[in-house]
Amino acid sequence: MSDLNSHHVNRVLVVDDDAHLINEYLKCLGEDYEPDTATTTLGDLEKVLFGEETDEKGAARFEVHSRNQGEAAIEAVQAAVDRQEPFAIVFIDIRMPPGIDGIEAAKKIREIDPNVNIVVVTGSLSSGPDNLGKLIPPADKVFFFKKPFHGVECRQLAAALCGKWHADMALRKANEDLERRVEERTEALQKIAYFDLVTRLPNQLLLIEELKNLISKAEDSEGDTAVVLLDFDRFSFINETMGYDSGTELLRSIGNRLSRTFVEEQDKQRAIVGRFGADEFAVMMPGVESEDAITELAERVRQTVEEPFLINGRDLFLKAAIGVAWHPIHGRDAKRVFRCAEAALHRSIRSLDNAITYYHSEMRFRARHKFDLEAELRGAIDTGQITAHYQPQQSTKTGELAGVEALARWIRPDGSVVPPSDFIPLSEEMGISDVLFESIMHTVCDDVAAWREAGDWNVPVSVNLSAHQLRNRDLVSLIKGILTEKAIDRALINLELTETVLLEDLTVAQPVLDDLASYGVGIHIDDFGTGYSSLSYLAQLPVQTLKIDQAFIAQLSDPDANTKVVEAIIALGKAMDLEVVAEGVETDQQYAMVRRLGCDLVQGYFIARPMSASQLTVWRGGYVDTQSLKHGSTVVGIEEARKK
Ligand code: C2E
Ligand code: MG
Ligand code: MG
Repeated sequence: MSDLNSHHVNRVLVVDDDAHLINEYLKCLGEDYEPDTATTTLGDLEKVLFGEETDEKGAARFEVHSRNQGEAAIEAVQAAVDRQEPFAIVFIDIRMPPGIDGIEAAKKIREIDPNVNIVVVTGSLSSGPDNLGKLIPPADKVFFFKKPFHGVECRQLAAALCGKWHADMALRKANEDLERRVEERTEALQKIAYFDLVTRLPNQLLLIEELKNLISKAEDSEGDTAVVLLDFDRFSFINETMGYDSGTELLRSIGNRLSRTFVEEQDKQRAIVGRFGADEFAVMMPGVESEDAITELAERVRQTVEEPFLINGRDLFLKAAIGVAWHPIHGRDAKRVFRCAEAALHRSIRSLDNAITYYHSEMRFRARHKFDLEAELRGAIDTGQITAHYQPQQSTKTGELAGVEALARWIRPDGSVVPPSDFIPLSEEMGISDVLFESIMHTVCDDVAAWREAGDWNVPVSVNLSAHQLRNRDLVSLIKGILTEKAIDRALINLELTETVLLEDLTVAQPVLDDLASYGVGIHIDDFGTGYSSLSYLAQLPVQTLKIDQAFIAQLSDPDANTKVVEAIIALGKAMDLEVVAEGVETDQQYAMVRRLGCDLVQGYFIARPMSASQLTVWRGGYVDTQSLKHGSTVVGIEEARKK
């Protein structure tokens, strides 16, 4: 290998057992060498070959070393290579008794130094082997030189070969540089392709590769390989309220903490931690020997991320949904195991308390089921199989029908009904929830128009909106368009958004809701009480109604139930001049309780189940009749109504 030194020095080794000849070399390669003939071309040649590295007389400088035996020459070449001061040329005699001959020595020298030019010096050309290039390859670095030689010949040859050597070395270095740069670039590109730029952790692509490696290693060792996926609840909320930089810092902190806990501490170099998606992380652990160990691992992952994170001087408490699958139980190959872990993760996200979810085969069945359902849903929207059922809301003060909630239903040609909890999220995943919403709005407006035809209709209808619809830029004009087209009084339409949807997308929601409210449709907050509402956002939004989450109403069944939450929500509603609806009222106890606590409206199976538009007309007729008969004895009246 060349270095900078060797670039400036022309090192020559001469090997001959004849001391006289060595002297000849020294003389003709020495600096003071004066050609004894008029060989003016020598200086010129040296200038061309060496440029500045000639002395003032234009002569090349050689550093000449000599040995008188083959073995000593081999050692000298080795030492020079070790010192990184290699020779450019070795002049070597063929016969040097008592040691090995020059050809043998040259072969060894070639093994040590692939770059050196070897000049085999011989008295008679016919005595040397003619396949020197094959014997001591490469052929362009081995030469014959006949002795006795003239000093000028020797010097000229040395100058030419040193020039060639420097050129070779420069080329070699350039190639090496190029190779290194290519390697560096490749490495950098791989980093980008395989590592997440924010956390510097492996990304999904690399995680799958790593799992493949772990799996192939696991074939011959004990234990399963577990994959734990986590997804953080309300991550976009943090981005929106604390700023994008804080979100980034938080991601980095999560990544660091997971690596510290699972890669660096206990399980040195066994676990692999990576960023699986936007706010999804993965911990992969090989050699897990029991289901208990998997449970323990998942629990530890949860504890690790649920310790507060200090971001921007604030302690942030995160909740993570966790899905777990493992090899070889849930899949033989890496992708399948990840898919199972994802299915489990999504189940965990959907569960209210983000419970750690372990994959089981039913989820795969559901995944396939979902695939069929997708194809069917497109067709169902086109052919009008999506319709709305209506659930009455009753005023606790007057006992009158005070509103209805439109609930989407998919009624298949065979009469079976698919619940909205199945097909609404599916439509969102498929990106067709706007089409679905539009079709429900049309249905609702058609039904309102029909009720109006049938008689007086002044009951407002609530339509549910999902987070996806809030992001639809055309939402407001779409609603205005349909109401205008069907000549529906805008005061009869309310839109319901869940508290979590509002909070997650407050910056998106605010302008849309302001726009809708100023147009004249009502805004209601659904499933209130489970989110993380602050009073300030409530005051800021154009909201008229709070619907208490069913979970709180369900707790009221117990006669000594804790009514504090419901009381607090009602007090909050009253203080802010909002109407309060109790949803999911199923028993007379619950009814009596919410009425006593001051709820304005009641909705639930106790009043009526959701029903079709035509059923509602009949129900309302009977309901009104019964009401008038019962002289406002509300509770009894409703029970009568329920029997219809
Ligand atoms: P939600 O808006 O909170 O609707 C109330 C849900 O509670 C309805 O379920 C209703 O049938 C059910 N329910 C009513 N009274 C009772 C009761 O006394 N006890 C019990 N246990 N349940 C009661 P459904 O119709 O299955 O709808 C579920 C959810 O699907 C709705 O919750 C809403 O979030 C969503 N959804 C329904 N229709 C639409 C729609 O058109 N668009 C959107 N984006 N979401 C919809
Ligand atoms: Mg609702
Ligand atoms: Mg609700």
